[in-house]
Amino acid sequence: MCNHARILKMSTKKDVLPETSKKGSDKRSAESLTDTKPVKKLKKSESGDRKPDGHSSESIDFLERISICRTDVCESIDKFKFNKKRVRVLTKQEDFSESSNGVVYWMSRDQRVQDNWALLYAQRLALKLEAPLHVCFCLVPAFLEANIRHFGFMLKGLAGIEKECRELGIPFHLLQGQAKTVLPQFVKDNNIGGVVTDFSPLRVPTQWVQDLKDALPKDVPLCQVDAHNIVPCWEASDKQEYGARTIRTKIHKQLPSYLTEFPPVSKHLHVPHKMPKETDWLAVEASLSCDRSVPEVTWAEPGTDAGHRMLESFCEKRLKIFASSRNDPNKEALSNLSPWIHFGQVSVQRCILMVKKYRSRAQEGTEAFIEEAIIRRELADNFCFYNHDNYDSIKGAYPWAQETLKIHSKDKRTHLYSREKLEGAKTHDDLWNAAQNQLAVEGKMHGFLRMYWAKKILEWTDSPETALRDAIYLNDKYSLDGRDPNGYVGCMWSIAGIHDQGWGERDIFGKIRFMNYKGCLRKFDVPRFVARYKGKSIKK
Ligand SMILES: Cc1cc2nc3c(=O)[nH]c(=O)nc-3n(C[C@H](O)[C@H](O)[C@H](O)COP(=O)(O)OP(=O)(O)OC[C@H]3O[C@@H](n4cnc5c(N)ncnc54)[C@H](O)[C@@H]3O)c2cc1C
Repeated sequence: MCNHARILKMSTKKDVLPETSKKGSDKRSAESLTDTKPVKKLKKSESGDRKPDGHSSESIDFLERISICRTDVCESIDKFKFNKKRVRVLTKQEDFSESSNGVVYWMSRDQRVQDNWALLYAQRLALKLEAPLHVCFCLVPAFLEANIRHFGFMLKGLAGIEKECRELGIPFHLLQGQAKTVLPQFVKDNNIGGVVTDFSPLRVPTQWVQDLKDALPKDVPLCQVDAHNIVPCWEASDKQEYGARTIRTKIHKQLPSYLTEFPPVSKHLHVPHKMPKETDWLAVEASLSCDRSVPEVTWAEPGTDAGHRMLESFCEKRLKIFASSRNDPNKEALSNLSPWIHFGQVSVQRCILMVKKYRSRAQEGTEAFIEEAIIRRELADNFCFYNHDNYDSIKGAYPWAQETLKIHSKDKRTHLYSREKLEGAKTHDDLWNAAQNQLAVEGKMHGFLRMYWAKKILEWTDSPETALRDAIYLNDKYSLDGRDPNGYVGCMWSIAGIHDQGWGERDIFGKIRFMNYKGCLRKFDVPRFVARYKGKSIKK
């Protein structure tokens, strides 16, 4: 990574990116951290809680409130002091050529238009160049065994993005194929001056970025913006953190610099001579060669607006019981936002900004949500980023955990289930089967049961390695939010003690934390949950 000082020749000094001026070595970097200064301090009367025309804030539609929050900051990203610590330049080439005719935002993990620091950064560069801004998405026919449940959700979200982009004068291009194959050609054909992309710590997308970097013409810079985390992963910590306890203070200390309101992505005045043809989404869907046996779900409507509606219902109805009831699978207490967050259709930063407006009504719920959505989630990215090769392997566990699992790997199992039996919810445990049915049918298992579910897989398979493989396989196949750092870390926490401590030693688990049916009976009405999901299965 290199210093961003020359990313854009005509950029002003205040646009300098101090990304690799690591760890406060550069005075200017500390100053530019407070780059967010011009964000108008949002007064209660302004920040989406304002009362235009004498209306009460309650009467302003939630989506409109969000939109007002953005425009209250400034009208366009070129009037906003961008916090450059969100950006890393990946190529040796840093300058966006002034003679080029556009900037590309290669959208990958963060599939939304507004509230997206990567797209905002790309627009900022395009405005400085007075050039068009293109959004490109590279659709690969297969991705870590994703099926139509995942592709369907994603494509419908992308269709909404194309529409929103068009209304803003930003061409959206669905390019079919790997980025390394299709983007360099796009860059040449359109005389593109540089590419901006978003960030994921997972191996496959990291490889895509590396491959694109190698394939781009040498004079075209590639930079990456962490648009998923509130505190960029590489800024939150420079090492793998031991657990929530060790990363919490680091993140909280930096939140004032990063947890700011977003300016809007505004109408882009520099449009290309020719807009691309609209995508035929039905044809694209039909062309996919993915597994179609796992159907799309009906409770979660794809797209940013639908995600924001889910956020609204959480703030209005569930936030007040989130702290006290989030471990009860019979209660409606969770945000249910993970599908939209996973596909980047909703920004966690937006969720936090909105939830905080309800703090006076739901103090404990707000604190608990901040802990889950910021600390636990960003800890998961930290683990995958710094434990890149082994985030989904027993080899990635702490030495104490590997040792204890090894010692107990030959312990007698009272039940042994094949992957097929697990997948078909055919165990002796009615709660486990009900949870598996919930996952298969609804595409989301309650968060508390996810822990129980994975720990039982450790108990009922022939080795911790098999348990981890089966848990990840089932989670990724059925869960709409699967293939996520949270998922790998959730399975590793349950089976291999990641981010946890050693507990009293027992069979099979060794020192890994144990959970059992009796404990669940003490926590919630198990028969009620079982009655709800017993015998439910995917309709063929
Ligand atoms: C075995 C297992 C597998 C899991 N698989 C996934 C997965 O594939 N995808 C996924 O997003 N999460 C996963 N989790 C983490 C967590 O259970 C889910 O994020 C949560 O249940 C999602 O539902 P929600 O949005 O209603 O959560 P809420 O409780 O409302 O939380 C809001 C958000 O905070 C974050 N969050 C909550 N709990 C955690 C956590 N423990 N770790 C990290 N982030 C958290 C998520 O982004 C979530 O959407 C898994 C956990 C376990 C134990």
